[in-house]
Order: sequence, then C-alpha cells, then structure tokens
Amino acid sequence: MSLQQIMAKNLPISPILVLAMALWFTPCHGQVDPVPGVEPLIVSQDHAWPPFAFEDREGNPRGVLVELWQEIGLRLGRPVEFRLVDWPESIAQVRDGRAQVHGGLIPSPERSGFFDFSTELMPLETFMFVHSGFMAMNLADLHDTTVGVTEGSFEAEFMVREHPDMSLRYFPNNEHMIQAAVGGEIRAFVADYPVALYLLDRHATPADFRALQRLYRQPLVAAVPPGDAELLQAIDTVLAGFDEEELRRLQQRWLRSEKVEVLPVWVLPATAAVLIIALLALFSLMMYRQRCRLVREVAERTADLRASEAKFRVLFESAAVSVMVHDRYTCEVIDANKRALESYGVADKSSLHEMDIWAEPPYSFADVQRWFSRVRQEGPQRFEWMSRSVTGEVFWEDVSLQEVALRGVTRIVSTSVDITERKELEDKLRASEEKFRAIVENANDIIYSVSTSGILTYVSPNWAEKLGHDIHEVIGQPFDPFVHPDDLSKCYEFIRLVLDTKVKHGGIEYRVRHKDGGWHWHVTNASPVLDAEGEVAYFIGIARDITERKELEERMMRMAHYDPLTNLPNRILFSDRAEQAVNLAKRSGSRMAFMLLDLDKFKPVNDEYGHAVGDLLLQEAAQRMKACLRASDTVGRIGGDEFVVLLPVIEREQDALQVAEKIREALVRPFRIGGRVLTISCSVGIALYPEHGDSVIELSKHADYAMYFVKKQGRNACLIFQDEMLDDGWQERDTTRLE
Ligand code: GH3
Ligand code: MG
Repeated sequence: MSLQQIMAKNLPISPILVLAMALWFTPCHGQVDPVPGVEPLIVSQDHAWPPFAFEDREGNPRGVLVELWQEIGLRLGRPVEFRLVDWPESIAQVRDGRAQVHGGLIPSPERSGFFDFSTELMPLETFMFVHSGFMAMNLADLHDTTVGVTEGSFEAEFMVREHPDMSLRYFPNNEHMIQAAVGGEIRAFVADYPVALYLLDRHATPADFRALQRLYRQPLVAAVPPGDAELLQAIDTVLAGFDEEELRRLQQRWLRSEKVEVLPVWVLPATAAVLIIALLALFSLMMYRQRCRLVREVAERTADLRASEAKFRVLFESAAVSVMVHDRYTCEVIDANKRALESYGVADKSSLHEMDIWAEPPYSFADVQRWFSRVRQEGPQRFEWMSRSVTGEVFWEDVSLQEVALRGVTRIVSTSVDITERKELEDKLRASEEKFRAIVENANDIIYSVSTSGILTYVSPNWAEKLGHDIHEVIGQPFDPFVHPDDLSKCYEFIRLVLDTKVKHGGIEYRVRHKDGGWHWHVTNASPVLDAEGEVAYFIGIARDITERKELEERMMRMAHYDPLTNLPNRILFSDRAEQAVNLAKRSGSRMAFMLLDLDKFKPVNDEYGHAVGDLLLQEAAQRMKACLRASDTVGRIGGDEFVVLLPVIEREQDALQVAEKIREALVRPFRIGGRVLTISCSVGIALYPEHGDSVIELSKHADYAMYFVKKQGRNACLIFQDEMLDDGWQERDTTRLE
C-alpha cells in the first residue's frame, strides 16, 4: 500500500505518524513527491546504466532518463517513483505489473511480445569497443576474442542474433563489464556509446579503448505492459510536446555531444602505408645525403692523395739519400730516385738491377732477400751494407727497409745513406785505438784515468803485475785507499792543481799500497781531458814505481849526512844544524851551547885491542852520549874520536856544564867490549852563544880552545871557554873544525 492509498482511505492517523510513515514507505529506489489523490507513476530502470540511469552515493536516482521522466511526470501531473534495479529485474517489474512503465529500452521483436512501446525518447548508438593496443580492423578480427555484453540487454540479443559465432561473456551490468575491460579480463565489449564513455571516464582510462565499429543505432523508447493504451498515449503526447532544444539541453548535461570517432576500416592500412612511404622517403633522403657525403669525402681524399703523392714525388726526387721502390718478394727495383741513379752509376732505373748493386762479397744477394723477408714478417729493418756501382766502385751504405702501400700495392722502399767516409774513419780510429792500446798495455809505467770525483775509471793491465791487485778490484774504486794516509793531502792538492789549471802536471811522489800490504813509492804525472764545455771531464796519469830509487836516495842522503860508524850526524849535517841553531838563537835572543869532545888516549885502545874494538867503543860511546841528550839536542861525530854537541837553547852556562859533565861521567863508566872491560875518559870544551861568538866558526873555535885547555890540564874534564885560555898560546892551533 502506498502512502497515497493510505491517505485515500482516510485512516485515522496523526500528522506526525503520517510523516513518519511517509518516510518509511518512501521506496528506496526512487524519489517521489506524494501528491494527495494522484497516483505516482512507477518507472523501472537499470540502476547501473550511467549516464542514463544510476544511483548516486546516497542512493538517489540520477541520470538523463531520471531527469527526463521527472519532466514527463511533471507534464503528466503525476509524481514519478523510480525503481532502479538490475536490468533483468527492471524488465521483469514492468512485465509483472510492479512498475507501470520501463524508463528506456530498445524495442525488439522479442520485447514487442510483452511490451507496447512509446515514441522515441532519444536515439541510442551502440558500438563495439576494443582495447587501443588491439590491432583489430573490423568485427571479423574479433573471432578469437571474448566480447563482453550486459546480461539481458538489447546488445546481448543483437550479438546472439547477428554474430552467433562470436564468443560472449555476460556481465550483470555495464559497470562490471567496464571494470573487467579496464582490469584486462576482456579486450572487447559492446556498449552504448554514452555509457561506455561515461564509465571509461570514471575509471580514468578513456584512451585505453577505442570504438571499433558502430553496431546499430536504435531509438530509446518507454515500454508499458500491453493494453495500457491510455498511459502510452499520455506519454507520447508529452514526448511530442518537448521541443528539440529542451531535449538537447537535458541530454547535454549527461551525454557527450561530440561525434563518435570510429576509425574507418581503411584508415589503419592507409596510415601504415603512408608511414611506410614516409619512412622510405626518409630513408632515401638519408641514403642520398650519405651518398653525397661519401662522394664529397672521396673527392677530398682523392685531392689529398694527389697532393701527398705530388709531395712524395718531390721529396723522392730531391732526397739527398738513395730511395728505391722494390717488389716485396723479388726485390726488383721498380723505381729509383736521382740520387740512387747517381750512386749506382746508371742513367735510368731500367739499368739498375738489385743483383748487381747488392752482391759485393762477403755479402750476397741471398742476404738481401733474407732482409726483405724480415721486413715482411717483423716490420722495418736497418743494417749496414757494402754496395757496388756499375762502374765497380764499392761503398758502404746505411740501408733502411720498410713496407709502404703505393697506389694500393704494398712495396718495400729502401733508403740508403753513403757511410763510406764514416766507415773509413771508424777503421782509422779502430787502428789508432788498437795502436794506443798496445802502447798502453805494453808500457812499463802504469797508465790510469781518474774521474773528477776521484774514481779510478781505467788502469792499464800491468797494474795487476806491478801492484798485485786484480784489475776488477781497482776499476770503479776510489783511489784514496791505495794511497798512504800521510801522502793523501799531497795527492789531493796535486789533483786540485790539475783541475784548476787544466794543464798537465807531473812529479808528485807518494806511497801506494801493494797487494802484499807493503808501501811502494810511486811518481806520477796527470793530464786533464776536457769535455765539450772546456771543463775537466777526467784526467789521465802515468805512474811509475820509484821505490828502488827512493831507497838509493835515502842511502845516499844518510851517507852524505851521517857518520857510517856511529850513525850520528856527520860534520856536514851537524854544521847545518848548528847554523840553524845560531840563527834561531839570534832571532829569539836565546842562549845556546856548543861543545867539542875528544876521547882521551884513544889511540892506545886501537893499538892494544885492534881497530875493530876501537870501532865498537866509538859506537858505544856515541850511544851513551845520545842517551844524555834531549831530542832537540844534537850530537855528531866530526873526526876519529872527536864529537860535537849542540844544545840549541840553554838558560844559563851552568846548564851546558851540567850536560857536559853528564856526558863525561857516562863515558868514564867501563865499556864491555868483546869480553873485555875498557875504561876511557874524555875532554870537553864548551862555547856559549852569544858570549863566545855569533857564528858557528867562532863558537867552534872557542870550544876547541877550551877542549885543548882541558887536555893540557890533564884531560877528563869539562870547561867553558874563557878569554884567559887564549893567553896560553893555543890560539896558534887549527881550530876551524866545522868549516
Ligand atoms: P889524546 O888524549 O891526546 O886525544 O890522545 P889520543 O890517543 O886520543 O890521540 P888522538 O886523539 O890524537 O888520536 C885519535 C886516534 O883515534 C888516532 C887514530 O888511531 C884513532 N882513530 C881515528 N879514527 C878512528 C876510527 O875510525 N876507528 C878507530 N878504531 N880508531 C880511530
Ligand atoms: Mg883523542
């Protein structure tokens, strides 16, 4: 029972109850403004057919058909109550009489059996939609594809009727079908155009599907149960009253007005063909441009090659060396420059035969072929070779061979430089070097070279023979360890002199350590060898062992200055030292003493025991005298049993007298010689500087006076000269002992 029916029966109910009941009984599928005494028009429709009819989130009916029927209801003077249910149910409701009118469907032969249809509400176009990535051109391409349709819909009927061979999948409504399509479950579906666009838009994937082909265009009509001609008449009248503009505005709010874009069947092949033609054109254009570039490059390279060939020809002809082009295998001369023709003495290259010019013994043409083979296998080769001109002249060449590609053919080019002069010079140098080496190696002297840092860089082979070291122990070593430490500073000075003056110096003598550990005297000279900048690079020395000469000199020096019997300074050496002592005393103002000592009665010793015993006594007496003196004092022997003593510095005359007494006492002690005991004494005369003379002669003379005075007085005593000694007539004696 509807609210209107309740109210029509005037049931005793309060207004509040009426309102509550009104709310309670308001159908959840539709919206109706109850008008007392007026039957609402119950309209059934699919609840999931946007934008034609659907429920919004609050459950209110929405859509173009809803608005159309509200307007129709207004014009009929009846409120409209919507029953939005599943599509099959919406059909069933009208058939069963639960609804008075179906809000919009497509008339079909099947439906005309149980419906009467109104005039057209609006046109409806239905399309086959396919996924955009699906390369289908028409319906025939869909035979392997499942197509989605809405269960109980006209489009389902259409597909079964018109395309019975096509595989269909049924969905309860359009919403579910489009969701399945968007989710990838189906790749094609049939739907009314506005419905499909609306739902694809809602899922934000409108571009994923495209309309493949329009299936049909049908009018959308209202359907009433058969026999309700009155209602059908009323609806048709209202519909006839709508003007086109009114309907257009109504639809515009919900439906897209643009023309449906269905690609004609020819579009895709045509587009593909156009694309292929465009690609071919582009490809042709690229090929053309590439060809143009290649032609240009070839032209440029050809020009470069011509230029470089011309340059090569100029270089080839004007080269100061012989250049020839050969066959890689036969060595045949294919080309030769001017210089080559001149060198080999031919007028033109046809007269130039490799076997003639490169076959001078001990070399042979087979050797040349081996060099060519190495060029082919290993790359460029260089060697020295003896060649021969056709006139028979033989000359040395420095030959370089290398492979070169000429006009696309690989050749071997030979470049030869005449090195005859250099070879001759080398021969001369070698001969000269051999000669000098022979001189050096056969020389008696040692020849060596030392770097400026003191390293022995060369020593002649006779070093080993003369010094005993192996040559390899010496070369590369510093010279210092071979030189006596006492002579090193002298050697350094000598080297410094040679380096500074850059000229030869000679005559330095020094001791060198031989392998046996002994020191030998060497004498050397040194000649600096200068580098290109004029600096000393190293120096060469010639050294000789002079040990024997040095020993001889030493012996001669001793013989000249020492008494051979007692080994005391002789008259010459003593005189020299006495002169020095006098000079020193003069310079320093010091005092000195000069003594003359003569053994007493020595002659009888000789006579009694023999000369040899006398000699031994003289030697022992000399030792005792030496032992009485300091190192700075000197005792010398100037005659048979005559000795002289020099005290270079004394403080007082008493000092001299004490030393003289010490000597005298030493000599009076018995001598044990040859198993005998001998006793002797001596007489000593002393002269002092400056009191008794300012020269050695004066001092010697006065000491002599004093000594004779002692002899005269009875011997065995020491006396300092006194003037009174002269009064005794002794001045007539020869006293010039040290002249
Ligand atoms: P006087 O006391 O006067 O000096 O007497 P004297 O015997 O020592 O005689 P005098 O000094 O005149 O003679 C020195 C002697 O010394 C003479 C000579 O026989 C001896 N005599 C000289 N030279 C040597 C020598 O080299 N060896 C030896 N054994 N005797 C020598
Ligand atoms: Mg004597």
